[in-house]
Amino acid sequence: MKTINGAFGEGGGQVFRTTLTLAICLGINVRIINIRAGRKKSGLLRQHLTCLRAAQAICSADVTGDELGSQEVIFKPRKVVSGDYEFAIGSAGSTSLVLQTIMLPLLLQEKISTVVIAGGTHNHKAPSFEFLKSSFMPILKKMGYQIKAELLKYGFHPAGGGAIKVTLMPYHGLAALKLLESGVQISKKAVAIASQIPQQVLVRELRQLQQYDWLVEETHQQMVESVGPGNLLSLTLVMDNITLVFDELGARGVRAERVASLAEQQMQRFLTSQASVCEYLADQLLLPMLFAGGSIKVGLPSLHTTTNIKIIQQLLDVNIELNQLSKGCWQLDVLPLDEYRSSLLKA
Ligand code: ATP
Repeated sequence: MKTINGAFGEGGGQVFRTTLTLAICLGINVRIINIRAGRKKSGLLRQHLTCLRAAQAICSADVTGDELGSQEVIFKPRKVVSGDYEFAIGSAGSTSLVLQTIMLPLLLQEKISTVVIAGGTHNHKAPSFEFLKSSFMPILKKMGYQIKAELLKYGFHPAGGGAIKVTLMPYHGLAALKLLESGVQISKKAVAIASQIPQQVLVRELRQLQQYDWLVEETHQQMVESVGPGNLLSLTLVMDNITLVFDELGARGVRAERVASLAEQQMQRFLTSQASVCEYLADQLLLPMLFAGGSIKVGLPSLHTTTNIKIIQQLLDVNIELNQLSKGCWQLDVLPLDEYRSSLLKA
């Protein structure tokens, strides 16, 4: 049994999720202590509890500590079974983060799975559905993973009520990700989405973008149905080798113009860097790259990225290198060793 300290590094939900994912893939028993000790309200929240229950469901794991607020979990996985799964978070917790917990073990099977997850689809500090579908998943496809996603219902924080459906198909060979240059810019698109708030907010967000050289025809607005109010401004940047999505969620007390300027700043930070992926992709691509191998360039590595590397290395003897190339640019290489790759793929 390997013990992982949930207080390590970033000290949030990602330490917990990465440990569950790798425990399933490697078929190892794990104890996770001090879960989310780095957060104000530590222990398992609904999103993390759903991650645990989803992880348990796909591999019939023996679990202790399966309750809200739990700070210690023991997880003993068995064989993964493909199938049709449905999970409900029961709050606006992020459906993307639940998906990312169970996605890899299911993608590595020989049969197809579908997963429907109900909860939040557009949350602060989590991948939005747009990010998942337009940025994260196309990079997985480059590595040979076969995945499709559909938004069934919008769910904004705090009401939630959204749902996603994801189809995970068997791969036919994985290839190392070689993504060291983002390439030249091909196009950009801004979509302002809202539910149950005045449409004028969207108009103001898009008008503000025009101050930053956005053409009117590159900007779109969409009123959507959801159980609660919400607003997202999502900028999609299509480059030769990658599509990036920069999201800003509107919030009470934050002016529409500020939402637009924050989204634009995120995009400009990327464009003026030598990175090939954004900071969020860097930590999220680590697990998929373990199986396929890969090289990416990031700006200053986030605490999520450095923590994820250390957690993976506590569970697995793997060669992940992070080397600084210049003032604001690091290269991240994941070099899978054949022995563990074959044992992972059999898991
Ligand atoms: P906690 O409540 O403990 O913070 P959590 O489980 O909600 O836990 P983290 O452990 O902080 O969240 O992990 C958040 C994940 O969401 C990271 O993988 C990060 O890359 C991703 N993320 C955060 N913001 C964005 C964003 N704007 N776009 C895409 N991904 C994001």
